[in-house]
Amino acid sequence: MESSSNLYPKVADAPPQYGGTQTHLGPMSTMATCPSCQARQFTTVNHEPSTKTHLLALLICLVGGICCCCIPYCVKSCQTATHTCSSCGAYIGSHQN
Ligand SMILES: [Zn+2]
Repeated sequence: MESSSNLYPKVADAPPQYGGTQTHLGPMSTMATCPSCQARQFTTVNHEPSTKTHLLALLICLVGGICCCCIPYCVKSCQTATHTCSSCGAYIGSHQN
């Protein structure tokens, strides 16, 4: 009964992890619906250094010297923007440049 055509099992129609009601989060405060309290309002954005920031700092340190390696930590576009609910403080999402 089993045939060799069963090598590739059918993948269930699973929806992608992103999309749907998820609002695209940019580096700036964005209108989004809080998954926790369902409030639709502008998010609170915190810029945190990411792995990329540390790597960039290391690269700049090697090229431009130790004095310049703090630049990525001062430039918001080099950091990850973490969006939280301005009402309840729940994590909504993050934007990585
Ligand atoms: Zn909330």
